[in-house]
Amino acid sequence: RMTDVGEMLEDVADRFSFQLRQRHIGIGIHVEPAVGQVLLDRDQIDQVLDNLVSNSIKYTGDGGHLAIRARLKDNGSQLEIEVEDNGIGIPKKDLSRIFDRFYRVDKARSRNMGGTGLGLSIAREIVKAHGGSITLDSELNQGTKVAFTLPVKHEESGGGE
Ligand code: ATP
Ligand code: MG
Repeated sequence: RMTDVGEMLEDVADRFSFQLRQRHIGIGIHVEPAVGQVLLDRDQIDQVLDNLVSNSIKYTGDGGHLAIRARLKDNGSQLEIEVEDNGIGIPKKDLSRIFDRFYRVDKARSRNMGGTGLGLSIAREIVKAHGGSITLDSELNQGTKVAFTLPVKHEESGGGE
């Protein structure tokens, strides 16, 4: 059904508001005005967003910052959503396997962080199932940015509402 992207992103932030406040992590949500409403599978995309935001919170120190941005690309045919943090980052050597099931960067850094290493692989499966793609960029000790695209299905002309 039609989803207001700005509202969807505000709702993600709300679901994590307790942890964000507890860890003094700031969050900024930036939605290009042109994005408006799009047709998407809200439950599934929420799962993607929750996985990405929970990673950013887990792997960002107290007082850090997250940004979630949404924009249209390719003449409005793609919706791109990115989740960026200024957390611990990922070593270059791990980047190629980061979407593998059960893959986690060495245990020392994730010692006290719960998790099974499935979040990113699930996110990728969902995005791919919707015809999109997902990429991750990271700089050790600088931060991580995960961006995914979804083809925009326009409210097509034809039958009216
Ligand atoms: P789960 O998501 O199943 O709870 P997880 O978070 O460890 O466990 P993934 O979400 O698949 O698993 O992430 C895989 C690994 O990638 C993580 O263990 C972590 O080392 C690294 N990682 C993921 N997101 C980030 C991030 N935003 N910053 C730094 N490292 C990250
Ligand atoms: Mg995870």
